Amino acid sequence: MVRAAVLSAVGAPLEIIGIKLPEPGPGRVRIRLAAAGVCHSDLSLSDGTMRIPLPAVLGHEGAGTVVSVGEGVTHVAPGDGVVLNWAPACGLCHACVIGEVWLCSDALAGAGGLHARTADGRELHPGLNVGAFAEETVVAANCVLPLPDGIPLTDAALLGCAVLTGYGAVHHSARVRAGESVAVFGVGGVGLAALQAARIAEASTIVAVDVSPEKEELARAAGATEYVVASATTAKDIRRLTGGRGVDVAVECVGRAVTIRTAWDSTRRGGRTTVVGIGGKDQQVTFHALELFHWGRTLSGCVYGNSDPAKDLPVLAAHIRAGRFDLAAMVTERITLDDVPSALSAMPAGRGGRALVVF
Ligand SMILES: [Zn+2]
Ligand SMILES: [Zn+2]
Repeated sequence: MVRAAVLSAVGAPLEIIGIKLPEPGPGRVRIRLAAAGVCHSDLSLSDGTMRIPLPAVLGHEGAGTVVSVGEGVTHVAPGDGVVLNWAPACGLCHACVIGEVWLCSDALAGAGGLHARTADGRELHPGLNVGAFAEETVVAANCVLPLPDGIPLTDAALLGCAVLTGYGAVHHSARVRAGESVAVFGVGGVGLAALQAARIAEASTIVAVDVSPEKEELARAAGATEYVVASATTAKDIRRLTGGRGVDVAVECVGRAVTIRTAWDSTRRGGRTTVVGIGGKDQQVTFHALELFHWGRTLSGCVYGNSDPAKDLPVLAAHIRAGRFDLAAMVTERITLDDVPSALSAMPAGRGGRALVVF
């Protein structure tokens, strides 16, 4: 038995219980978790904004050490450090074949499978494939990425979701070029990664926007050159900071209609607005036809940073080793597995950054 945070039903609090994992069968890997980040998507899963088969072990941003491998697994061996990838690509679907692996139509095919059982035999599913809020997990081999050299295993957990997403939003989706101005809406884990990515891209003005004035220090440490506390005048404030034009690139990491609309309004004529935040169906964003023409902006959705984790991880690792990307600076709190339910409920009023479960 290992301890895990389990979501039984939408709206229920997470419970920390003992679970029984199977031995890894062919093509599967057993991992002892070193750390797991508490992501906003965990909250979206528990409140029903995003749906997965339940009951499930939540947690999808993790890193750990391989305990054992099933038949046919050759890319990792017991004792290896690994990063979990919650959206593994099948390699066969149309998206995978054309190289857009982040849109793999089969990425969550494993989410409805049997992952583990409770002490009384109840079936549990792997929340977003990996079930990282647990002392140990068993996952498909393609959910396992070897940890690049020189990266601390604990902080590496963040690579699996927040960092790939925020970095990818800036580098792959918005394709920020040196000298461009960037605004990042929402200073959570993804937002902090996006700010650091904008700094790496040598953006000129980097504006961080958040409802909380308390995240300014965190945002500036991640590369923000300006900080705007969100209000009714945010778009105007950002235009003022950018010669009246608006930013070349706005990255929305919140997933709310009002923030998406503000990000759009803060973008210069001809600029790019990238939406990374995941909102619900109730968040309706409206545009009138004339403004779509007049402003000539590009509005893009962005899934998992439009990242190919196998290709991006070594690039990110090089930035981390060279001191250009600071993983530890994104961690605002180190907590235990028992603290996960309270960390989730505290998230809407959070102080920004990541709470990291350290096992
Ligand atoms: Zn996540
Ligand atoms: Zn695929």
